[in-house]
Amino acid sequence: MLSDIQIAQNCQLEHIDNIALKLGLDRDDLEHYGKYKAKLPLSLVDNNKLKDSNLILVTAITPTPAGEGKTTTSIGLADGLSKLNKKTTVVLREPSLGPVFGIKGGAAGGGYAQVVPMEDINLHFTGDFSAIEKANNLLAALIDNNIQSKTRSLGIDPRTVLWKRCMDMNDRALRKIVTALGGKSGGIPMETGFNITAASEIMAILCISKDIEDLKEKLGNIYIGDTFDNTPVFARDLNAEGAMAALLKDAIKPNLVQTLEGTPAIIHGGPFANIAQGTNSIIATKMAMSLSDYVVTEAGFGADLGAEKFFNIKCRYAGISPKAVVIVATIRALKYHGGKPLKDLKEEDLEAVVKGKENLRKHVETIASFGIPSVVCINRFDSDTDAEISILKKACADCNVPFVVSAGFADGSKGTTDLAEEVIKATGLCKSDFIPTYNLEDSPKEKIEKVCKTVYGAQYVILSNKAHRQLHRFEELGFGRLPICIAKTQKSLSDDEELLGRPKNFDINIREFEIAAGAGFLVPIAGNILRMPGLPATPSAENIDINEDSIISGLS
Ligand code: ADP
Ligand code: MG
Repeated sequence: MLSDIQIAQNCQLEHIDNIALKLGLDRDDLEHYGKYKAKLPLSLVDNNKLKDSNLILVTAITPTPAGEGKTTTSIGLADGLSKLNKKTTVVLREPSLGPVFGIKGGAAGGGYAQVVPMEDINLHFTGDFSAIEKANNLLAALIDNNIQSKTRSLGIDPRTVLWKRCMDMNDRALRKIVTALGGKSGGIPMETGFNITAASEIMAILCISKDIEDLKEKLGNIYIGDTFDNTPVFARDLNAEGAMAALLKDAIKPNLVQTLEGTPAIIHGGPFANIAQGTNSIIATKMAMSLSDYVVTEAGFGADLGAEKFFNIKCRYAGISPKAVVIVATIRALKYHGGKPLKDLKEEDLEAVVKGKENLRKHVETIASFGIPSVVCINRFDSDTDAEISILKKACADCNVPFVVSAGFADGSKGTTDLAEEVIKATGLCKSDFIPTYNLEDSPKEKIEKVCKTVYGAQYVILSNKAHRQLHRFEELGFGRLPICIAKTQKSLSDDEELLGRPKNFDINIREFEIAAGAGFLVPIAGNILRMPGLPATPSAENIDINEDSIISGLS
């Protein structure tokens, strides 16, 4: 089989005007970025149309190094729905350059289920991440400038400043730094650092804002730190939000591209799924729902992180609800959860599948707790055997969940029509909006307990003394009503990444809290979360090249 980039480069792309036409849009509705990319104006969101559209969430089992294929399945499913003549859009996140140059590679799907032009999408696309970085770093500059100012100082205590700079690159050297060296004119030295752009609060804000006014308000609400007399300082106290929003004027508009089979794809925003909500922007999802009957979207990591936040944060804020959820699993990953070593995953091992399927079962139960119909989808790999697949088929029949094998990677829409049909059936069974895991009126501790018990399967939640003290302060500041966005490892249902499968009898330890007052959530931290990753010993960047005809190679 050809590589992803070879398949993408062999594809005869349609002009973006023709893709827009499929959504009932005229070329004048678009802001063109060349022939194959366009920005869509915010006026295309029509709140009256949201109820009629079938939103489908694609989530997965607990991720493993073997890879599950949520993006690939989302794209394949959208093409399958299009093939069945359903007016469909797939809505995804924009790839970050960190993984593109690091280990994981791009995030534009794979095989015959990709979004194109894949090189552009993977390599800083329409510049949204750069705009986010600039807005983020403008605030950092304004904070430092205020601390330096003699006449307009707010009295910010530099030791309390939480705001960091950001850049869209895996660059561990910037994780912890000291700024403002160089004497009096260089500012007040501070210990600080960089986050990768996808982990910045500006990214989370852009993706949760409904329009420019809302964006400005949320930017103004960013909590920066405290003054020497312990008064909280917000970005609005520095009059920062207007200029920051101005820098984001284009980044807030969703980007239209296409799949290999010409299905409209809207790609917009890319927040992390641990410290942020982990799905594309609310504006992009609502726009797709305004323009098409079926909308397929993906949430990052496993259902414990991505789907939980998709429902409890994104859908709640957006006032939308999916009609079906696809839970992606692979035989390889289930064997890994069943204890089989990574290097042997290609060998048939029925016992490992039997053990590993418990992880899938937990995620099926989690989706059931939201009251939305689900479909289990096996993303088929070459090495899967019929005997392994039939174990899962039986397990799903036992718990009354539809089960489909999808081959979008190998066959495009031909391999996903069964999945599309099953998903259409599931949307027909959805009778009401989702049931949230917690209410906003619950105390932060109650919210955390509900998520940890219902979604992770934990026994108890233990807060450190520091976490208790912080919580007290955040409640005093009026942040107790915010939804919570728990930061924990994606590798396990628990907060211990070694515990694979379906761990039982474990507790969740909340070490500390962060507040994303702008984005509007409280972040309980259950583990070490790296916001500025490093590159591996052999970075993917070493394989990437461009020739004299501007043809790019080596992207995966
Ligand atoms: P996720 O969205 O869950 O992180 P992706 O869809 O990005 O996963 O897929 C991860 C990687 O696995 C990609 O490089 C993709 O090309 C590859 N992949 C996905 N599905 C298959 C498959 N069925 N066979 C082979 N490779 C696949
Ligand atoms: Mg993905």
